[in-house]
Amino acid sequence: MDVSIIVPLLNEEESLAELCAWIQKVVCANGYSYEIILIDDGSTDNSWNVIEELGQASPHIKGIKFQRNYGKSAALNEGFRSAQGEVVITMDADLQDSPDEIPALRSMIINEGYDLVSGWKKVRHDPISKTLPSRFFNWVTAKVSKIDLHDFNCGLKAYKLKVVKGIEVYGEMHRYIPLIAKWAGFKKIGEKVVQHYERKYGKSKFGVGRLVTGGLDLASILFVGKYGKRPMHFFGTWGTVSFFFGFIVFLYLTISKFFFDKTGLTQRPLFFFAILAMIIGTQLFVTGFLAELISRNGQGRNHYLIEKKTGIL
Ligand code: UDP
Ligand code: MG
Repeated sequence: MDVSIIVPLLNEEESLAELCAWIQKVVCANGYSYEIILIDDGSTDNSWNVIEELGQASPHIKGIKFQRNYGKSAALNEGFRSAQGEVVITMDADLQDSPDEIPALRSMIINEGYDLVSGWKKVRHDPISKTLPSRFFNWVTAKVSKIDLHDFNCGLKAYKLKVVKGIEVYGEMHRYIPLIAKWAGFKKIGEKVVQHYERKYGKSKFGVGRLVTGGLDLASILFVGKYGKRPMHFFGTWGTVSFFFGFIVFLYLTISKFFFDKTGLTQRPLFFFAILAMIIGTQLFVTGFLAELISRNGQGRNHYLIEKKTGIL
């Protein structure tokens, strides 16, 4: 199969038929064998009925319905599990992304050898309350991840099949898929300027809460990426630093009490600082042990992506 198109959706009944017709027009014009996987992320409107009707009309249109709303990341993850196409393309259901981009995205994967190509909504048709924070997020994410992209959270992306089978998207991590792919070892990541439209029907499903959760997710993904398999290196280092810092201050206070300054230890503010630093240090250390225990007993402890083998069946 040439291409799988994955569409996560929540209450998008008005746009689905139009979107599928548009996708089919483009893939048929290019002669691709294809599938469209619509993942209904717990819609409460008529979306699922529309999906079933579309599926009956065309064997290429497939649907998955969640029991409840799990979020866009979960929907994408489920789509990734079912996809079969050589190239996998994700796009939003609200007609803000253009199916006309499919051939060019596919060609970048097939002919230029990209593992992942992210769309870049260079001219973006969204309110400023969205575009401004998004600029900031993209800037920070690009800096800390050292991935040269302008638009990490674009719904329109293309992947090699092995990339989507090799990564897991959960929580709200769909914003950082290029990072997840990079950590998994897929390094050839590119971008393509894509056409972006105003939302035609319904309204945006993401409110201001995304600013907080987006920031926290970035912090945790960076941490897990770097220390996920060796948490003690992080907690142990900072625990030791904090403990010894406190210990040295404590030693200084003790010596000075006996030889220079006869005021009681507890009279001096530094004393509380020393105690606090030692307690925090110990706690970090113990947290490190706990984290090691958890990660060593986790299911993914011996999960590695193997690129090639030789001489082994
Ligand atoms: N979406 C989803 N589950 C959610 C929220 C959103 O599947 O919990 C889908 C939504 O239906 C759309 C895509 O994710 O197809 C992008 O959402 P939206 O257009 O609301 O985001 P925006 O473009 O405003 O950033
Ligand atoms: Mg949208």
